[in-house]
Amino acid sequence: MHTVLHTAADVTRRVGRGVLDVLLPPQCLACDAAIDQPGNLCATCFGKFTFLTRPYCQVCCLPFEAAVIEDEVMCGACMKDRPAFNRARAVFSYRDSGRTLVLKLKHADRTDAAAHLAGWMQRAGAELLADIDCIVPVPLHWRRLWMRTYNQSALLANVLGRSTHKSVIADGLIRTRATPSQGGLDRVQRRRNVIGAFKTNPNADLKGKAVLLIDDVMTTAATADACSRALLRAGARQVEVLLLARVPAPGSF
Ligand SMILES: [Zn+2]
Ligand SMILES: [Zn+2]
Repeated sequence: MHTVLHTAADVTRRVGRGVLDVLLPPQCLACDAAIDQPGNLCATCFGKFTFLTRPYCQVCCLPFEAAVIEDEVMCGACMKDRPAFNRARAVFSYRDSGRTLVLKLKHADRTDAAAHLAGWMQRAGAELLADIDCIVPVPLHWRRLWMRTYNQSALLANVLGRSTHKSVIADGLIRTRATPSQGGLDRVQRRRNVIGAFKTNPNADLKGKAVLLIDDVMTTAATADACSRALLRAGARQVEVLLLARVPAPGSF
């Protein structure tokens, strides 16, 4: 009898929540303000949001301050020391409401936003998606995975894989050790910080594959470079990188 009562209560609760979902208005992806359509920003956040447009570095997607004439231009850092991946592309700048949005996806209970954000990534990364065979997310160390309960890059990769019909190798890369937080480190320190931090899963078939690496934010190219090196060592043919957000320049947010 008790079991029956429980079940009935559960059903009521579930139905109740369903009704709530319908009644609650869609929320801004960055600030939770009520908006008209799901998957958008409110007017205030949109005013403080920067979609990444050319000109930017053709390798690492660092936006250039000044207008450049040629299209095929690299930033100083890539010119000096080109990362192992082919091209990185990002949807928006990691500043103001772009930054708020990423932090929200990372730490708050807004996994519903991933579907919309993956749609943005699909548009921004169309030229990369046309060239790749499979999608691999940057892994979180298990300890952080446990604290946050999910890997936002894997979440974005899975949604993107479903909408583009590309196979997702969710555990293609493994973190071999926890890397200290990259915050406050310069380019050289960040690079040192991630050396040997990634390896590929021996069960993942990467031989001859063109891989799309997915991450939520790129500050310097250090993490994407370390992941790309591991993928190439495992026989990947080429690596492209698709990001939600790119930090425009050190110290600019
Ligand atoms: Zn907002
Ligand atoms: Zn660059």
